[in-house]
Amino acid sequence: MKEKSNIKKPIYSFLSKKQKEVRGLSELALDMRWSWDHSADEVWRQLNPELWDNTRNPWAIMQTISREDFQSVIDDPVFREKIDFLVKSMRDTNSAPAWFQKYHPNSSLTCVAYFSMEFMLTEALPIYSGGLGNVAGDQLKAASDLGVPVMGIGLLYQQGYFRQEIDLNGEQRALYPFNDPGQLPIPPLRQTDGEWLRLKINLSGNNVWLRVWQVQVGRIKLYLLDSNDAANFPVHRGITSELYGGDNELRFKQELILGIGGWRLLQELDIHPEVCHLNEGHAAFAILERAYTFMKETGQAFNVALAVTRAGNLFTTHTAVPAGFDLFEPAIVEQYLGEYAEQKLGITCKQLLALGRKNPEDDSEKFNMAYLAIHGSGAVNGVSWLHGKVSRKIFEPLFPKWPTAEVPVRHITNGVHMPTWDSKEADEIWTEACGKDRWLGMNKTLGKDIGSVSDEKIWEMRTNANKALIAFASEYVSKQLMGSGHSSDSVEGAKHLFNSNILTLGFARRFVTYKRPNLLLHNPQRLLRLLTNPNFPVQLIIAGKAHPADYRGQDLIKEWMLFIRQTTPRPPVLFLADYDMHVSENLVQGVDVWINTPRRPWEACGTSGMKVLVNGGINLSELDGWWAKAYSPEVGWALGDGNEHGDDPEWDAREAEQLYHILENEVIPEFYDRKEHGIPTKWIARMRKSMAQLTPRFSADRAVREYTEQHYLPAATNYLERAANNGVKGKQMINHLQSLQENWDWVHFGEVKIATSEKQHVFDVQLYLNDIEPDDVQVELFANGLNDEGPMITKMERGDRTEGRVNGYHYSASVSSSRSAADYTPRVIPHLPGLSVPLETVLILWQH
Ligand SMILES: *Cc1c(COP(=O)(O)O)cnc(C)c1O
Repeated sequence: MKEKSNIKKPIYSFLSKKQKEVRGLSELALDMRWSWDHSADEVWRQLNPELWDNTRNPWAIMQTISREDFQSVIDDPVFREKIDFLVKSMRDTNSAPAWFQKYHPNSSLTCVAYFSMEFMLTEALPIYSGGLGNVAGDQLKAASDLGVPVMGIGLLYQQGYFRQEIDLNGEQRALYPFNDPGQLPIPPLRQTDGEWLRLKINLSGNNVWLRVWQVQVGRIKLYLLDSNDAANFPVHRGITSELYGGDNELRFKQELILGIGGWRLLQELDIHPEVCHLNEGHAAFAILERAYTFMKETGQAFNVALAVTRAGNLFTTHTAVPAGFDLFEPAIVEQYLGEYAEQKLGITCKQLLALGRKNPEDDSEKFNMAYLAIHGSGAVNGVSWLHGKVSRKIFEPLFPKWPTAEVPVRHITNGVHMPTWDSKEADEIWTEACGKDRWLGMNKTLGKDIGSVSDEKIWEMRTNANKALIAFASEYVSKQLMGSGHSSDSVEGAKHLFNSNILTLGFARRFVTYKRPNLLLHNPQRLLRLLTNPNFPVQLIIAGKAHPADYRGQDLIKEWMLFIRQTTPRPPVLFLADYDMHVSENLVQGVDVWINTPRRPWEACGTSGMKVLVNGGINLSELDGWWAKAYSPEVGWALGDGNEHGDDPEWDAREAEQLYHILENEVIPEFYDRKEHGIPTKWIARMRKSMAQLTPRFSADRAVREYTEQHYLPAATNYLERAANNGVKGKQMINHLQSLQENWDWVHFGEVKIATSEKQHVFDVQLYLNDIEPDDVQVELFANGLNDEGPMITKMERGDRTEGRVNGYHYSASVSSSRSAADYTPRVIPHLPGLSVPLETVLILWQH
């Protein structure tokens, strides 16, 4: 009996939720705001320091703390006051008008549904793998800061992405610890009567129940679906076990749950977004379910419903290689969606397959999710200037006869959520120079303000942040060695390997060949000499996981482990196992230089380099992704020559040489140049320029403002217009387009006359439109762009009728004669109000 009474009971078992502090703390613990706003950190540490430091998950603390421990803290009036204050300020922030309310007060946009396969919000919610999740997580956070009405839809994976251990032989081992939903900061979504909300979807004849979890991200909600419902067959319970695990068919099922289940959830919750943002093609099935919903509401046919709803869909593509898209065998599509196509959408399975194909007639062509996304969206964008260009090339096959430059893919460069990635020291400096509200989209003088911070302050920030990183890394590595069974000597030794006066390089990313994580290791002897020069020593911290099925990537990890082993007992390199958000945060806050070595143009954007900006870290990177446009000599260093060289090993060797050369001749000398007061003034000047010029540009608040103004707002307007009165406009447009299509083959050009004077060419062409009305087309004079510029397109004006012909007209335009007349070609394209050309129709006729 006595023993039993000593067992501490968790507060939830008998502390009533009526207690104000419990409610307040729960509210704080369940808002992911703590992943960027650290004002409550002390509270959590006070409640359970060990658990807080190890999990940084307040909800886990709330779930485990005993009544006695809780009572002893809560009895302190100062503590209670602190909680009241924190809860109130969180509520105030979440409800205060922000950028969106100020700049777009009368917009018709009420909800953007943001679909993503992964979200990286905090390491306490491990449902991410890398860059894609990072973009999704950081954009949700920025949308919350800016007050943009976004709602997230994703999946809850029971095991998330695999966790990494490096064993005694230096080999990666994949671990799959279970994410206990009770410990994750995500309550189940309940109906008003308290019952769990469960959704039923049909998977090839079987009913599958989906559970729903709710994540609060500031003012934004993210809903996560999972199939681990007790009522499901075992084979269905496991669908959402792992992110990027399993085979192709499992991936297909996950994507059905995300896209179709996700859109159905919104209907269930009576939420009707104007805009659906597909973060990569994984969720593209939402397009079908959205159209189906519209069919049910209005009685329209599928083609009309798709034409109406696609205007409100936005597709963001993230890969720079066609192999990066999900492809499915037609048989799988047929098995899972055949009945859905026929009975719900009222189309044949072949018609559905056509939406994911380049050639609708080719029955052997696989179903491409990115093609579905393009065929069902009103706009498409890549994630950096270079990636926009690469994507136009990739998607060219969908727009035959159209010039690559006009393939309808634009770009919005990613940004990172600065409050999430800045160090305490950086936060202080920025707050002092630019104020608390600096990332809320309304401060126009950020660069100038941060540019005036003194050398001493910047250097002090760097030194403190670097100390913190070294302390973190030493502790981390010694724990890691202990965990994988190393001797106590090496565990102890690991605590004293690094020193904060030394130039610290960081390199962390997924280990895949295109990122060349071993470029630095190209010449191990030279690297070793470079790192261990007694006068100018350098230390390097590395981290990264290779997908369990990627053996080449795992070999690259092994190469580094071998290098470390050969340089023991004092290796100048630390490898931090299990690269996740926590490791990443510490790295980007404390490194001096961030190295990135992808093969151009395969890094679509890259975001880790952006995370060092706010912290004064400097980038040394391939001219790829974001850095291709961000780089200038005063803010960092560039690798490569700005051209593409494929995976040519000779080029790799030359870039490795260039990398060593830059480190030896520029980076290291500049860092150790300490003529004035022992601080490197040139280095600091570079830090300051990088902070001032680049941080505001690569902040997620800039990206979300661009998404809002360039895409969400126009998409909402366009969708609402087409959808009004049960889709009248959409229906008219489809009918109109169909009649254009039927008559297009009869359109042809007649005679072309060119009169060239000193200044200009005057073109006059005859065009025979037959049954097409002249208002339904646009006639243009086209010339390819010069250098990297877009094409030159000049509208031709309609003139006289051609006698004796139905809808025969003269069209004319004049262009500068600085280019040869042979550079210009007349062409005709459709022109219907609101229709996006060539995204929604690829019709085009060239004069030659
Ligand atoms: C930022 C981040 C990434 C993405 O970095 P890239 O440079 O785009 O590869 C991946 N993983 C983690 C843990 C990150 O924090």
